[in-house]
Amino acid sequence: MLRYDIAIVGAGPAGLSAAYSASKLGAKVILFEKEPAIAHSIRTSGVSWINEMQKFGIPADLYNPIRNFSLISPSNEVTIRGNSFTSCVLDIRRTYQYLAALASDAGAEIMIKSNVEDPIINSANKVCGLKVRTLRGSIEVKSDLVIDASGFSSCIARKVGLAKPWKRYGVGAEYECRCEKADQETWFLMVGNRYSEAGYAWAFPLSESRIRIGVGIGRPESEVDPLEKLNSIMEKKLRPLNTFGKIQPLELHYGFIPNEGLRQMTVSDGFIMVGDSAGQSNPLVLEGIRYAIEFGRLAGEIGVKSLCTDFNKGSLYEYEKVSKDKILSKINSAMKIQKRWIGLSDERWDREIEIIRHMSADEFLDFIRAEFTISNMVKLAVNHPKIAARQLFGMILNP
Ligand SMILES: Cc1cc2nc3c(=O)[nH]c(=O)nc-3n(C[C@H](O)[C@H](O)[C@H](O)COP(=O)(O)OP(=O)(O)OC[C@H]3O[C@@H](n4cnc5c(N)ncnc54)[C@H](O)[C@@H]3O)c2cc1C
Repeated sequence: MLRYDIAIVGAGPAGLSAAYSASKLGAKVILFEKEPAIAHSIRTSGVSWINEMQKFGIPADLYNPIRNFSLISPSNEVTIRGNSFTSCVLDIRRTYQYLAALASDAGAEIMIKSNVEDPIINSANKVCGLKVRTLRGSIEVKSDLVIDASGFSSCIARKVGLAKPWKRYGVGAEYECRCEKADQETWFLMVGNRYSEAGYAWAFPLSESRIRIGVGIGRPESEVDPLEKLNSIMEKKLRPLNTFGKIQPLELHYGFIPNEGLRQMTVSDGFIMVGDSAGQSNPLVLEGIRYAIEFGRLAGEIGVKSLCTDFNKGSLYEYEKVSKDKILSKINSAMKIQKRWIGLSDERWDREIEIIRHMSADEFLDFIRAEFTISNMVKLAVNHPKIAARQLFGMILNP
């Protein structure tokens, strides 16, 4: 049987980042990806933040910088113009393959088209390896630590009884399109029933002639198929699609994202969950790539540290503690806003986006990124004293 220090399930941003940081610290790492290529099927629309990408060392030619943010509701529209580029739309395939190159160069072994079918559990009930169907046949690998970075499915965590299927989640459909004329510095979020009954639609430019247009819908609030909704928006050329000239879809992307907040438990003996598998995303706009990279790296580092010391469940709890300290309260605050937003009528949306009209670009960014520190919220409440704004920001501050 093959032996590794760490075996990782899934080559999304979480798994690739864990493989990179653990290999860099000298661990013997193997990572399995069930698809035939890294980022073969794209399940994300790739919006993130330039400062975070810089922090992770992602080269600037892998994303399109954004400085303006436009919100469209059925009878209203607000555009916030920034002085500098703060957000970005990632070229997902190239970015994930870059993360794979980092992991491979650090020494990790990556096996594509290799489906992890089952965990191996020892007599002490500890996960100690994986059974995998690979291009070279079925194999078993033993490892001191298994990292489940399988995304929405949390497939190995579920098999070991650590996780249940998500009950609240978002499902999204997106076309990556060629278009005649997009404003490549501006992304759009569209809200209200004609765009999504429980969620929002988006238009995120990759360049002036390439744009991702999609729809996300929350389950269980709505059973509508996001692809049907997207097709209807495309056919009717609802705003802002009527400004892009001819739109030609080139790729269809489809995916699921958990929307319940963090899993209560993300570690057990010899086992860590990271990324979507652990519920580590910002529920306001269901944005998780930066957390997948950050906590993937953390999982790899703490995993190796634990292997080098008294390897036990206790030493892995540091991972759970650090990740929870970093995002749990942000997620909880964002869930409160999401609750308010999910039931809004078209008319209420028209009024709700008025709150945003008076925000500066920095304030808007802190808000949409769920950076709800007390000082940020107090500043917002002071700068925006109208009743509707006070209600919204007050809701976040109240326990
Ligand atoms: C429609 C949509 C739009 C989104 N838009 C954004 C956005 O704009 N910005 C943002 O930051 N986030 C966005 N997200 C969320 C973001 O995509 C996720 O938070 C992020 O991809 C999580 O990364 P991950 O590595 O945990 O999981 P994933 O990216 O899902 O990667 C998991 C990997 O594991 C593999 N895998 C699964 N099971 C097995 C198995 N048994 N064996 C081997 N391999 C396996 C999968 O093939 C996959 O490659 C969006 C999500 C959706 C659904």
